[in-house]
Amino acid sequence: MSKTFKILRYDPVTEGEAHFESFIHESKPADSILETLKDIRDSQDPSLAFRYSCREAVCGSCAIVINGEIALACRTQVDALEGDVIVIEPLPNLEIQKDLIVDMDPFWEAYRLVEPYLQPEGDVPPKGHLVEEKDMEPVFQYITCILCASCYSACPVATRDGRYVGPAALAKLYRFIKDPRDKRKWASLAKVDTPTGAWGCDTVFRCNDVCPKSVRPADGIEGVRRRLVAQRLKRIVGKNR
Ligand code: SF4
Repeated sequence: MSKTFKILRYDPVTEGEAHFESFIHESKPADSILETLKDIRDSQDPSLAFRYSCREAVCGSCAIVINGEIALACRTQVDALEGDVIVIEPLPNLEIQKDLIVDMDPFWEAYRLVEPYLQPEGDVPPKGHLVEEKDMEPVFQYITCILCASCYSACPVATRDGRYVGPAALAKLYRFIKDPRDKRKWASLAKVDTPTGAWGCDTVFRCNDVCPKSVRPADGIEGVRRRLVAQRLKRIVGKNR
């Protein structure tokens, strides 16, 4: 099955215009887009740059745009795509470093901002901070996030305002605040109690639509908002006592 792969190219050394380059490639049945990119790189252009690691939808590093849809290259089969021309572009909302590789720094900065780790209170009990499985049910879907940045790239708020924390980081924050062991302080939550934090979301749900792991980041953002309101009320009541 021979198809044309129109791939967006950008070379930071020459700093020329980003442009499309076409490669004709014969794919084997069940070949993924990632395998195709590797074949094209190995047989036609060794300078073709793209990111990947695990090849099985676990590391999240191969998210790109395939025929206008954000998807993991390793999980998209060539023979499942219609047409003889397949257009491949890097993720939007993040600066291109080279070809299909984007600068993930804004995504990681947002992730760091929400302090994505458990913040329990007091000393660690001898058997650790034990938790019932049923109490973890609300957070399970958020644990499956592979940090692929697909939701961040699909988010229209992130498109118009690079300061927006974005769906993945806010959903991860929800994962921790719903964890019964987490007792984080207001100072930590206050970092997203802002127009570019939890209140920035336009609730258009593009993040939910594109997530390859069926996480629903918009639900997490809603949960963070509820917690912020509850915490604010608690603080007001506490002050008035
Ligand atoms: Fe990727 Fe889904 Fe995690 Fe967003 S929530 S980074 S789309 S896995």
